[in-house]
Order: sequence, then C-alpha cells, then structure tokens
Amino acid sequence: MIKKTLSVLFLCIVVFIGYLLFNTFQLKSKQIHVAAVAKIQIGDSAVHHLSQAIAIKTISTENPEEMDTVLFSHFMDFIGNSYPLVDSILEKKIINRYSLLYKWQGKNEGLKPVVLAAHLDVVPVPNEDLAEWNYPPFSGKIADGAIWGRGAMDDKVGIIGILEAVEHLMSEGFVPDRTIYLAFGHDEEVGGKNGAKSIADHLKQSGVQPEFVLDEGFAITRGLVPNVLTDVALIGISEKGFATIKLSAEIEGGHSSMPNEETAIEVIARAINSLEDNPFPPKITNPVQKFLEYVGPEMRFQDQLVFANNHLFRSAIISAYQKSGSGRAVVQTTMAPTLFNAGIKENIIPSKASATLNFRILPGTSIQDVVQKVKSTIKDDRIQITLSDFRSEPSKISDTNSPGYHKITQSILEIFPDVITVPNLTIAATDGRYYGEICDDIYRFLPIRLHPDNIHAMHGINEHLPINEFHDAIRFYIQLLKNCN
Ligand SMILES: [Zn+2]
Repeated sequence: MIKKTLSVLFLCIVVFIGYLLFNTFQLKSKQIHVAAVAKIQIGDSAVHHLSQAIAIKTISTENPEEMDTVLFSHFMDFIGNSYPLVDSILEKKIINRYSLLYKWQGKNEGLKPVVLAAHLDVVPVPNEDLAEWNYPPFSGKIADGAIWGRGAMDDKVGIIGILEAVEHLMSEGFVPDRTIYLAFGHDEEVGGKNGAKSIADHLKQSGVQPEFVLDEGFAITRGLVPNVLTDVALIGISEKGFATIKLSAEIEGGHSSMPNEETAIEVIARAINSLEDNPFPPKITNPVQKFLEYVGPEMRFQDQLVFANNHLFRSAIISAYQKSGSGRAVVQTTMAPTLFNAGIKENIIPSKASATLNFRILPGTSIQDVVQKVKSTIKDDRIQITLSDFRSEPSKISDTNSPGYHKITQSILEIFPDVITVPNLTIAATDGRYYGEICDDIYRFLPIRLHPDNIHAMHGINEHLPINEFHDAIRFYIQLLKNCN
C-alpha cells in the first residue's frame, strides 16, 4: 500500500515537473530582431543647446503666480533662436503663454499623426543640497564628458533631443509622411494642468487623433531589473492613478490634565492605523503581466521556470516585488500619509485634527473604489473624508502589438542594439495621461540610461547626462521620426 502511494506521489511529481518544464520551453523571446543603424554625426551645437537650456531656470511652482515668467518667456525665445527651421517652418501654437505645440505637416493627410511630448519645466534645487553638487545646478556646465544640471535628465534632454532631431531632419530636406506634433508642457512637475492638459484639450478640439503619443517615463535601465544581465529598455504602457484624501475630525478639546476618552488626534491616528492594517490586496495587473512575459525569456533558466509558470508562482513573484517600496508600488494601490495637522501647544488638547493621505492607484481600480475602501475601513462617522480636486484615474493600457509600439521598439534597437525592450507599468504620473482622451496608445520612454548610480539624480543631486548618451538620445528621435514614415 505504502509502495503504491509512493509511486503515485512520484508519478505526480514527475508530471508536475514535466508541466513546469513544458511551460518553460514554451517561453519564446518576444524580442524583435533589427539591425543597428550607422551612427549619425551630431554637431557640437547640440551639447551647447542642452547646456543653455539647463541654464534657464524654468522652475514650475505650485502657485502659478510665483512662477518666474520672464525665464519661461526667455526659454521660448531660446527655442526660437536655436532652432530656426523648426521655429520658422513648423506651425507654432503657444498655449497658456508658456507651453508650446509645434505642428510639422505631413505629406499624407490620410495617416494618423504622432505626438512627441516633453516638459520644459524642472523641479527646484534645495539650498541645503547646493554644496553637494559637483557643478552649480543651473550652470549647464560641460565637464567630465557630460552636461550637468537640473533638467539634464528630466526632461530637457527630451525637449532638446526632439528639437535637435527635427532641426537635423529639416536641414536635410526630410518631410514626414504623417504629421508630427511636438508638445512641450510647462508645468509637468506641478501636475501639468496648464500645460499638457491644455495642449491635449486643444488637440481634441482640433479633432486630432494620434496614432501614438511618446512621452517621458521609463528609460534604458542597467542593473535595475533583478536577474537580467542585459540592459532593459522599459516602455511604460500604462500609469498609475492618484488621489489625495483628507481625513478630519472635530472633537471637543480642552486642558490636557483632563482628557476625554478620545481626542481628535487619536481618532485620526486610529483611522490611519486601520487603513495601514487593511491595505489594498497586491495583484499582477496587465502591464506587469506583460512585463513578466517579455522579460521572462531573457532570464536565467531557473528564473524562466518561475516566469513561465507565473500563474503558479504568483504569490512568490508578488512577495519578491513587495520587498521594496518601489517594487510594492508596482503590485499594489499604495497609501502614504503625507500631512498631519493638529495642536498648537503641549498642554492643550486640540479640538481639530486632520491627515492627508496620498493614494497611487493600480489600473483596474478606480478613485471611487479607493474612497469606498477608506470609508468602509475607517467606519467612523466622526471623520470627514474629503477627496482633493487634483486627482487622476489610472490610465488605459496601451497595446504592445500596435504600430506605435513597434516603431518605438524598432527605433530603440536600431540605436541601442545591446538592449532588450520590455513594457511595464509607470508608477509615477507623467503628462502622457492627458492624451488618453484622444489616443489609445501612449508610451512612456526617454532614450537615456538609468542605473543605480544616477537614478536618484533626477530630482536629486548631481543630475547630469553623458554627452555620448545625449547624442544617442538625438539619434533615437531621428530614427523614430524616420520610422514613422
Ligand atoms: Zn519629468
């Protein structure tokens, strides 16, 4: 009897292993094969243009009235003067005074246009960080084989890279088959409402329905995708939504020597605790599933086995993601308390307390779901729940079989032949989301290289871009524009 049970068990194990191996051998690389193109010579002026662009401090501010409008106007003049062909031949529309929309008319009206988006504003540099910069952040210093300063990576390389590409092609007499729009917003870092949103509204009113939109988002990563030795060009095919919820409570305060059973601070603190004890369940959404399908075949055999059978190893994959904050963000709708207000003095119990919670929402979950969950988890009528106006639903999921996705991956591989291309979910917000009403296929990719040593330089210290990488970024945009024909 024991012998029989053991042989049945043995047979089951053999069948199971056979099943795992079968799935693993079924895993086929999703990489397309294209030959690298010869590197175009990029003139010296490009580097100087990026340097000059960095030196114009286009810092966007939460309050538009605090914006240094002279510098933004100066930036527009700089573009006009530096790119005479773009500025004189393309149709230019200034939106909300500081955002730019260029239209490069295509030969064939029947083809859908393409939008190349970037933002010309940057985040400020805190004074306390200044001493740590190798070169002043708004110097645009060209040194050590790189261009230094705020915006070198995020996102003046996008603006200048696109403009250099278009100017280069125009100087050669290239005319696009399909119309190309260059959409440069001026307030991405503070939400994009006056910039990209207005540009997208304008395009919508003009009846424009792009084939695809390319905005910043991901990049070519090295050493950032675990267990993959090659560089991975990640392309964002969707982005998380966000919403901010304020919890406030008002309970009679008084002298701290005779506290009531519960104070406003305690009520709010308890609410946050219960929300943290009841997080949104983790899940693999479609863009992450796509990521697994594309990256799996490029990994070591043991990893391939897990990825090929990801339906069985789902919880192992999810727990691997959950080990870090950035990983958790990929598989979960997250909550972060960002403001807590209460009290003015050590011996007075405040009658009011409030907390602000910022949620980042996975595709498939809505803002309404978040509000509902907050209400049902807190279950406390004394707490008022207010949803902030500035919010965004998770974006749609763009197609990885579309002509746009294909053109982008082809252009990446022609310029960066050593990489693999993989779709993924963008966890931060980009201007790209505003184009969702006029276009299904929005991709988020910036042709620069990110690795553990420079990833924190964006919005951080010593942001810089190696000159050779900048040249490759321009080559990428040139190639993409050619491939759109
Ligand atoms: Zn950016």
